[in-house]
Amino acid sequence: MGLFTRAVLAVLPHVPKPIMRRIAARYIAGETLDEALQRITQLQASGYTTVLDVLGEGIADESQARAVAKAYCEAATELARRKLDAYVSVKPTHVGLSIDENLAYELYAQIAAHCAPLGQFLRVEMEDAPTKDGTLRVFERLRHTHTNVGIVLQSRLFCTKADIQRLAPGPVDVRLVKGIYLEPASIAHTEAEPIRVAYIECLELLCQRGATLSLATHDDGLAARALTVLAKHAYRREQYEFQTLMGVREELWSKWKDAGHRVRVYVPFGPEWRPYSLRRMRKNPQIVGHVMRQMFRL
Ligand SMILES: Cc1cc2nc3c(=O)[nH]c(=O)nc-3n(C[C@H](O)[C@H](O)[C@H](O)COP(=O)(O)OP(=O)(O)OC[C@H]3O[C@@H](n4cnc5c(N)ncnc54)[C@H](O)[C@@H]3O)c2cc1C
Repeated sequence: MGLFTRAVLAVLPHVPKPIMRRIAARYIAGETLDEALQRITQLQASGYTTVLDVLGEGIADESQARAVAKAYCEAATELARRKLDAYVSVKPTHVGLSIDENLAYELYAQIAAHCAPLGQFLRVEMEDAPTKDGTLRVFERLRHTHTNVGIVLQSRLFCTKADIQRLAPGPVDVRLVKGIYLEPASIAHTEAEPIRVAYIECLELLCQRGATLSLATHDDGLAARALTVLAKHAYRREQYEFQTLMGVREELWSKWKDAGHRVRVYVPFGPEWRPYSLRRMRKNPQIVGHVMRQMFRL
């Protein structure tokens, strides 16, 4: 980690909350569901669909995990009531994976069952490598009972190609990402180009099995390579979409939208935004660099 990044990380916890809030406003919709819904409504008016995320992870208490599931159900109800083209995306340890895998399954199933009659979808997110197998087991159980669930897979991990081949037959909906967690070199690619190559290899396997795809990246070179793979497999526009993080490389969203691709924007919100953002930056200092570059560009 560079000296500059280390200095930024040391200073950030002492930056007054209102200033942090101003920096974060680009990436985080606010503290309340109402603020997130406002942002989602604006994005929809500009031609973008959305994914809603309640910030948080690593819940160690069952009642808190149950409260998180309830908050997601309420959010889904509100999205449907306002006829917004948005769905919820939930981190496994936010609904108790680190307490008990069965609890995480129960709560995901509860959210999926709530979303189904609303015509809504539920994305199971992927966290760091130690939680990956548990997350995939929960997802495979969910797939048996619910058709409105999808998963996230990370090209950074060596095992992802084998994981794709191990998924049970049948329709599958995957958000393919590079992976935000910096994993050790013994289990993951650590350099940019091998992560991109692995992304394309994973995409190839997913296309072969006809997966519905979300290409979640702001790497335009990679996106162009991905589109070539989709074209080779004769993917239609309704079988895939680009997904982007709120506030990140908006010029790409409009470029893709104008070219006729669907673009869905990830909208995180929640009272936990400050500790969550600090934790994320400490775990992956590259984010500090991204944010600083964005600020100076502005
Ligand atoms: C919708 C969505 C959902 C995701 N869900 C998950 C998940 O469940 N699990 C998981 O492990 N990862 C997830 N990720 C993160 C993903 O794994 C990558 O870490 C992230 O997208 C950065 O990789 P990139 O492909 O955009 O390429 P990079 O090469 O990292 O970024 C390309 C360019 O985009 C800009 N950029 C990228 N990220 C940021 C940022 N945070 N802030 C400011 N600028 C930035 C920079 O200008 C950078 O040069 C998600 C990403 C998206 C878009």
